[in-house]
Amino acid sequence: MRTLDLDALLPEIAAQVQPLARQGQQADYIPALADADPNRFALATCDLTGAEHAVGDADVPFAIQSIAKVFSLTLALQHVGEDLWKRVDREPSGDPFNSLIQLELDEGVPRNPMINAGALAVCDVLLERCDDPDGEVRALLSELCGEPIGIDDEIREAERRAGHRNTAMAHLMSAFGNLHTSVEAVMSTYAGLCAVTMTTRQLARAIRFLANGGVDPKTGHRVVPEALARRINAVMLTCGTYDSAGQFAYEVGLPCKSGVAGAIVADAPGRLGMCAWSPPLDASGNSRAGGAALHLLAERAKLSVF
Ligand code: GLN
Repeated sequence: MRTLDLDALLPEIAAQVQPLARQGQQADYIPALADADPNRFALATCDLTGAEHAVGDADVPFAIQSIAKVFSLTLALQHVGEDLWKRVDREPSGDPFNSLIQLELDEGVPRNPMINAGALAVCDVLLERCDDPDGEVRALLSELCGEPIGIDDEIREAERRAGHRNTAMAHLMSAFGNLHTSVEAVMSTYAGLCAVTMTTRQLARAIRFLANGGVDPKTGHRVVPEALARRINAVMLTCGTYDSAGQFAYEVGLPCKSGVAGAIVADAPGRLGMCAWSPPLDASGNSRAGGAALHLLAERAKLSVF
């Protein structure tokens, strides 16, 4: 890695993958995402010493959406450890992130915490234990990226209003006894997590604790025990990009997590954190150009865990 010139490589990757954005389509279920500029693009890396490299719109904030699921999972594991797996499974779903079908078949136990149903169960676990779960997730993110981060109240409200499928999942889990607080509280927390705003550069920094055995490399603060960091990475690798997780494992070979605003974070254990952002999505809801950027970066920098 030391001999690799990321200053030269990142712009090369950007030039190669940016045209692919035209093959994707940004999410359109709320205005803030539908109106996103499809030409935005950023790719950022941050290694364990803190050295950062970035190209494109790396300092433009956007809603992190489902990327928050990694950090709400982290917080829930801090609170209840492996007991969490009584409430949510850790198997890939092979279904879209907002699918209801498995939830019925699996009697209200979501397949994994990276899909919407699983994240709703995680919100419920947090609501049972903290006064302000999404505030705590924001505090964790802010600590990990070393800067204050925002929340977009308009997006939060729009998520709540447009969240019919998510609300249906929460009710279904409640009917099966796998939701202990109220559907309203869970939905409000979940919408607050979707609406957290960060930049590509901040996300590349924030994910590094997973590349560093659970310890924030900047502060030395242990976020989770090493074994749990390994497990979060395993869940990201197998479930973080939904029904394309197999393809991402094949092409990128790193724990990844995508969000519907077009960002994908990844970490290369022992090496670095990274994030790619481009709003147009593929059919699985993963950034088309962002996925291609991580593929090339992993390939050229030999980052795959395999
Ligand atoms: N707000 C989105 C939803 O709940 C989050 C999903 C995602 O980013 N993939 O549908």
